[in-house]
Amino acid sequence: MRLDKFKNLFLCIIIWMKIVSACLVGLKTRYDGCSQTEESCVELLVSGKAIPLCPEQLGGLPTPRKRAEISDSDGNAVLSGDALVISEDGEDYTEHFIRGAEEVLKIALLVGSEEAILKEGSPSCGVGYIKRNGKKVKGMGVTAALLKSRGIKVRGQ
Ligand code: SF4
Repeated sequence: MRLDKFKNLFLCIIIWMKIVSACLVGLKTRYDGCSQTEESCVELLVSGKAIPLCPEQLGGLPTPRKRAEISDSDGNAVLSGDALVISEDGEDYTEHFIRGAEEVLKIALLVGSEEAILKEGSPSCGVGYIKRNGKKVKGMGVTAALLKSRGIKVRGQ
């Protein structure tokens, strides 16, 4: 009986866990080796309610790394095989981006996370927009698209 209570409490705690883009909590994971700290995300981390992850690092890319863009449409098109992720000098990063998105999804499912707070504009993490030729384009990054397709709420920051 006591064990059940403890188990339920534990489940309540992990349901609160949110996935957060690692660069938003101050980790220097961005392509240029910098972070993009958002105090609200740091507070979530400090209070034990966030798991910081960087899909591009989890996909096997180094930091710093070359800037990359989705060739057409957005992350949904990458997942369906209709677009590629290409680095600034023409290297195909598609496999890395998909692998990174899958790793983030794996963690989200393992901890039962129902929400992700992700960095806007990124070809992985963008929620409302990504960038193409340096301009904002409406659409999602690859990780945001995959999480959303699996019922996880995604919020841009
Ligand atoms: S992939 Fe996402 S978490 Fe990683 S640096 Fe880019 S925006 Fe931040």
